[in-house]
Amino acid sequence: MKNGAARLAHLPGLTAVSAATALLCGAASAQTITTTQLQDLDQRASAVQAKMVAWRRDIHQHPELSGQEVRTAKLVAEHLRKLGMEVRTGIGGTGVVGLLKGGLPGDKVVALRADMDALPVKENTGLPFASAAIGRNFDKDTPVMHACGHDGHIAILMGVAEMLAGMRAQIPGTMKFIFQPAEEGRSEHPKHEEEPFGAKAMIAEGVLDNPKVDAIYGLHLAPGPATGSIGYRVGPMMAGADGFSIKVTGRQTHGSRPWDGVDPITASAQIINGLNTIVSRQLNITAVPTVVSIGAINGGNRENIIPDTVDMLGTLRTFDNKLREDAKKRITHTATTIADASGAKAEVKFSAVSYPPTENPAELSKTAVPVLQAATGGKAIQIPLVSGSEDFSDFQLKVPGFFFILGAPPKDRAPAPNHSPMFDFDEDAMPVGAKALAALALDRLAQPN
Ligand SMILES: [Zn+2]
Ligand SMILES: [Zn+2]
Repeated sequence: MKNGAARLAHLPGLTAVSAATALLCGAASAQTITTTQLQDLDQRASAVQAKMVAWRRDIHQHPELSGQEVRTAKLVAEHLRKLGMEVRTGIGGTGVVGLLKGGLPGDKVVALRADMDALPVKENTGLPFASAAIGRNFDKDTPVMHACGHDGHIAILMGVAEMLAGMRAQIPGTMKFIFQPAEEGRSEHPKHEEEPFGAKAMIAEGVLDNPKVDAIYGLHLAPGPATGSIGYRVGPMMAGADGFSIKVTGRQTHGSRPWDGVDPITASAQIINGLNTIVSRQLNITAVPTVVSIGAINGGNRENIIPDTVDMLGTLRTFDNKLREDAKKRITHTATTIADASGAKAEVKFSAVSYPPTENPAELSKTAVPVLQAATGGKAIQIPLVSGSEDFSDFQLKVPGFFFILGAPPKDRAPAPNHSPMFDFDEDAMPVGAKALAALALDRLAQPN
């Protein structure tokens, strides 16, 4: 999870089962998971709880930066092999994939995903298993910490793998356990700018194929809602982030004789004003917000020379893929046509590093939400939009995917937001997350369509 995750720390006004959920529960496609199966999962989650805590603490004490998850990947791969799974390593860098073939007939393939990377943050929790690790972040030594709860995500998914491997004979279909590197970004210079990392890199290397994944589920630990609860949204949930650059090219001239050249500074000012009308005048933002901001503008070096070029940098935040594509087109159109009107030229480039909005599709949510309710005893609650981003959304662009927040405010300290040097989570949430993921998977495998 990237930027803005702080909002999860104090989620106001959360109510119990919402009206929307009630509607979904009454929808035609009911969940297939039974009370007996849920009780079985409860026992299995309790049985692996101590192991999950031990794994989490070990991983927490040995955090690795994005794309460098070597020790972590080895730990995960060894665990999956011990469980008798077919294991693939080195997918999208250090990614690990475990394949569990169920003992019952079924042609569905369900994937569960955990992210493995830590952050260049100096831990200040005072925990007995706090990290003192030093890593290399873009060629510089830096303290490293699991400050986003990915240590918990790994431990939870290792736990689910053990639970479901123990139930192999009762599983109709195939399970894919995806341990993904580099969710938070890069920590090393890429060979070329377009080189993918994280979810995109795993997808490019076929993680969703062979066998083809029908649905994917994932979770994120956060300091809210309360432990035992799960936060979700149907439809848009977390922001998409797209950086962009605009290069405005005019023609240099003396500041006293603007008519002899083309002024890219005035054109840039007009472009910024034009960009500010995209959200305020052009997009329908009644359902979800959109943000367009210019954060850098550079051009010229003295008062009486009009320069040749101006460079601007900006960011687009969206909560809906259609709005995202529409806004991107409008940014390009606005900048190029305004520049054109003054005889200048604008080149708009969207960054190769981008995150689509995390959106839970209505169809998959119809069964996922009731399963989460059943798995938590009615403690799945709708949460406000989250302004942070998640590259789980890249999987969702390819296959139906459902993402949720696992509430885990720490017991003995004030909750700190994700990415804080003080970030910690309540380990009692881990069996809740494990049970929820296992229940979602078993339910999906048994669905008729
Ligand atoms: Zn994060
Ligand atoms: Zn995260």
